[in-house]
Amino acid sequence: MERFTGSFTQQEPIPEAGIDAALAVLRHGRLHRYNTVAGEAAETALLEEEFAAYVGARYCVALASGGAAMACALRACQVKPGDPVLSNAFTLAPVPGAIASVGARPVFVEVTEDLTIDLAHLEAAAKASGATVLLLSHMRGHVCDMEALMALCDRLDLRVIEDCAHTMGAAWKGVPSGRHGVIGCYSTQTYKHMNSGEGGFLVTDDAGLAARAILLSGSYMLYARHRAAPGPEVFEALKLDVPNVSSRMDNLRAAILRPQIAMLDDRRARWRALYQGMEQGLAGVAGVRLIPRPQHEDYVGSSFQFLLPGWPPGRVAALVAAAAERGVELKWFGAADPAGFTSCYAHWRYAATEALPQTDRILSGLIDMRLPLTFRPEDVAQIARIIAEAVAQAGRDAAPAPVVVPAAD
Ligand SMILES: *Cc1c(COP(=O)(O)O)cnc(C)c1O
Repeated sequence: MERFTGSFTQQEPIPEAGIDAALAVLRHGRLHRYNTVAGEAAETALLEEEFAAYVGARYCVALASGGAAMACALRACQVKPGDPVLSNAFTLAPVPGAIASVGARPVFVEVTEDLTIDLAHLEAAAKASGATVLLLSHMRGHVCDMEALMALCDRLDLRVIEDCAHTMGAAWKGVPSGRHGVIGCYSTQTYKHMNSGEGGFLVTDDAGLAARAILLSGSYMLYARHRAAPGPEVFEALKLDVPNVSSRMDNLRAAILRPQIAMLDDRRARWRALYQGMEQGLAGVAGVRLIPRPQHEDYVGSSFQFLLPGWPPGRVAALVAAAAERGVELKWFGAADPAGFTSCYAHWRYAATEALPQTDRILSGLIDMRLPLTFRPEDVAQIARIIAEAVAQAGRDAAPAPVVVPAAD
């Protein structure tokens, strides 16, 4: 029996240009973004300018994490304690966590079999809750029909904040992910598409939201040192009213990130090749449903998901165990208890919620795995073979023991 010996958590090293730039920052010692000498633009300010250009946004603010970017976005939109905020039931804990961090109340929306937000349920939940903001999570890189979503949200008067932790570098019909809503949020945590350990951004075209976000990030009265920012007149009206919720990015991380922006498109192509290799390897495996990718979705594919429709929990657990024995780390969103990075909306007890039967059914058979760029195409082919065999084995192990009928003589 073959065994996979690679690592599902090993990302590529930081590019040499990032290491050199990081060393330069360490050598001059001005790590704080507002610690600049005359005429110097901070690495952080340049990073914001370059990332804004990459996604075609007017304004960009670099923050301490993706979660900090989402919380900053909610505060900039003046979400108040107790306000309902719509979000995906299928997402990761920092998303409802960002809503909870401003004292607001997450209202979860069902997921579809394609792992995107259910638009019919979104409409019903918006009307029932009276929410005015949707924190839309493009969870695991699956982008819904953004035209249909934006038309619906416009009709419902819902402002959309996008969580693009898994869609940095992706697009829908040519529009970069994060550019449909009023604010797009990104993460540069190690497992995402650019790596600075921790970090995040938000982008927007709205000058008022950008100024609020910069003040919220902790700019003191030094906001004029930002480059991807509105003019001082926009800050004048806000600077004494918007609190400093200190969550800035520093120049060291910005130095590591700047050379990675130009690599995003190549990374997307390489990730997509790994993703499509996995798709081919699992196509036609009995009991497995692959997730269709819409024609208009220019996805990254930094992780892979499939469904096991109708599988009882014991059989899914048997598959996860059989794959693990052979070095393949599968994550199961339907497990009774949260494990590692996975959890489900029912585990977030601070966010009281009604049961979501469709999401329960889909997550009960949802398997997830990372595809780090250190994988080679032959790794992906091997992982797919192991999964296909483990699927078959789990079916046999979980099948009822054959009834032995004594032979009549
Ligand atoms: C990682 C992640 C975030 C938050 O990013 P951090 O930088 O870790 O705070 C948000 N949403 C999703 C879906 C994520 O996977």
